[in-house]
Amino acid sequence: MHNAMVNGRDAVNLVAIMTRAYIGIGSNLQQPIQQVQQAIAAMSQLPSTRLLSCSRLYRSAPMGPQDQPDYINAVAEIDTTLTPLELLDALHVIERTQGRVRDGSRWGPRTLDLDILLFGAECINFPQLTIPHPGLHERNFVLYPLQEIAPALVIPGQGELATLVANCPASGLEPIDDI
Ligand code: ADP
Ligand code: MG
Repeated sequence: MHNAMVNGRDAVNLVAIMTRAYIGIGSNLQQPIQQVQQAIAAMSQLPSTRLLSCSRLYRSAPMGPQDQPDYINAVAEIDTTLTPLELLDALHVIERTQGRVRDGSRWGPRTLDLDILLFGAECINFPQLTIPHPGLHERNFVLYPLQEIAPALVIPGQGELATLVANCPASGLEPIDDI
């Protein structure tokens, strides 16, 4: 920390640490394309956070139970001074605002799912938060949009994103160009 005299008054310059983070977005209920667009708009309004870029939207086949609609997915890139847990809380607020109800079922349909894929180069293992996101390296609907906005990324513990993409078939995944 650094004290300075500015205009005769003591000023403290607090330097906030910005971290580059990537958020996976998914929806398969109640107009999923609009849900994803609304979530991107909501992330651009988060405190202490700047939305830098966003991938195209993709349509993907559901994981797990197949008796549910296709998903719409995208990945957003942000800079934030929030802590990882503050960011997770803020994303849960957006999920709830957009009508997400958690019924405990895994991979079930949802209006909105926001996952922290990466938070800088950090590896985090809290009970409620694992980063890098555990499914990142094997999910085409995460890897392909992520590569679109950050092709040179290296995933902590997993290696180069480009290699993960090369090893992950794009089956069931298609970019949406008609919106
Ligand atoms: P999923 O995304 O796996 O379908 P949920 O969205 O219901 O499941 O999330 C379940 C829990 O996963 C959340 O309450 C959250 O605490 C936890 N979680 C662990 N790691 C992450 C992460 N990287 N991003 C978002 N949630 C995470
Ligand atoms: Mg989630």
